[in-house]
Amino acid sequence: MSNEKILPDDAAKILFPFDVAGIRAEMARLLGIPKCGNYVRQLLDLVSRNAQPANKLVAGGDVLKVFDLVQQQRGLVRAGDTAHSALPGANFADGSIEGGNARIQVGNVRPGVAVTMDELKAMYVKSDARFCLHETLHHCGRLVYSDQEYAIAASTINGNNPPLPVPPPGPNSRFIFSQYWDAELRKSFK
Ligand SMILES: [Zn+2]
Repeated sequence: MSNEKILPDDAAKILFPFDVAGIRAEMARLLGIPKCGNYVRQLLDLVSRNAQPANKLVAGGDVLKVFDLVQQQRGLVRAGDTAHSALPGANFADGSIEGGNARIQVGNVRPGVAVTMDELKAMYVKSDARFCLHETLHHCGRLVYSDQEYAIAASTINGNNPPLPVPPPGPNSRFIFSQYWDAELRKSFK
């Protein structure tokens, strides 16, 4: 293996391949942290109970099984990988399990300093697993559970502290809800 360092801007341009097994193992490790496993179960319980009746929980809310189902459908695509029909934007759940076209798009990592390829690979597995956990939770609903649905559940669990944001209507409201519940999810990783 080369010890040659890659500059941050060059690293950010690489359409980095996915280490699906490594990502899955890191997701399993996160879900195995009791705080994280419990938090995810609470979220799924609330979101699935509040969802439209047709938007049923996939695989009983077994997140790793849902991740595997996504791999059997359209799998993972890197943001910017237009040759594999990546869509504009960074991280999101595309399609649905119900539609048979579930896919997860994941953005690029830009390291803060020059890194070796091995270091970049390790950074990607860690980062990809965190995004894949969030996006797999969307695919835990047969018709996808939205960021707003997760944000409402997160605010119920945290006693509305910090308060649920009230974004202005429009396409950007999704990002505000996403940031809110993703921050709560990430608190459960440690
Ligand atoms: Zn989201």
